[in-house]
Amino acid sequence: MGADLYRSGETFELTMRIGIDLGGTKIEGILMDREGNVAEVIRLAVPREQYDQTVQTISELVRELDDEAGIKCPVGIGTPGAWISNRSVMKNCNSTWLNGRPLLDDLIKSLSRPVRIANDADCFALSEAVAGAGRESQCVFGIILGTGVGGGWVMNGRLLVGPNRLSGEWGHTPLPYFRSDRHGTSAEADLPDRECYCGRVNCVETFLSGPGLSLTHRLLTGENREADTVAGSEFGERSYALYTSMLARTLAQIINVIDPDIIVCGGGISNSNYLYRDLPVKVAEYAFTSEGTTQIVPAEHGDASGARGAAWLNPA
Ligand SMILES: [Zn+2]
Repeated sequence: MGADLYRSGETFELTMRIGIDLGGTKIEGILMDREGNVAEVIRLAVPREQYDQTVQTISELVRELDDEAGIKCPVGIGTPGAWISNRSVMKNCNSTWLNGRPLLDDLIKSLSRPVRIANDADCFALSEAVAGAGRESQCVFGIILGTGVGGGWVMNGRLLVGPNRLSGEWGHTPLPYFRSDRHGTSAEADLPDRECYCGRVNCVETFLSGPGLSLTHRLLTGENREADTVAGSEFGERSYALYTSMLARTLAQIINVIDPDIIVCGGGISNSNYLYRDLPVKVAEYAFTSEGTTQIVPAEHGDASGARGAAWLNPA
């Protein structure tokens, strides 16, 4: 455990942890024991557009969970945006009223204890690595295939965090082999470039997110369809094959760089069983090994991962 957890001079019994998932519309707080059993869940509406009220609501929620635990618990918080450590402010939050605000410092002040913070993809990865589908594995890469595409990298139960807090941000790297795949997915040649909100072109997220898959499907078939229903649908074969090929290429890069024991998939598209049948075969075509020993599995905790992972930000 990092010494910073004790910098307030108070002792924390790590028998219970509090995890907060700060979403765009709701704040979910859980009280979790050291085995990952959840003793209490509280959900409150986010005071939209009101920063001070948001800090106050989180603080009240934490105090309520403290009372339930009978002790002052360590707190972790997961957010959809990023906390910029050198400026101590939030950025890239969909909940835009948090951007540019010192959320972490204000929570530390309000709760008079250290608080740890990470983005929702990191929390997802940590939740699955510590007490989810990756619990038996040392090196876990968690990916979210949802409205956006994100990831997190956990080694021996610890989230890897670098100076830019960028670890796992594979969604904003360029899609590999775009339009030049020698394995014969020629459909891709017809797809136009995609602008990403981040200012780059053809980011992985623009193709592998839910909206990305829906767009591919519409361009190839003319049919409007929710992304999580493309696989197995009447006209979905080509779009889905292209999607898994694209996903396999990006995962092959991750495997070549960090060689994880397991890749755990979350988000709406990860619910398709076809993915776990087809992906390993395609990944083996692109990764620098034909052994294909990397496991690719669905997540265990689904939507609960945000709060669970936040709680695990305070490691044992
Ligand atoms: Zn991007």
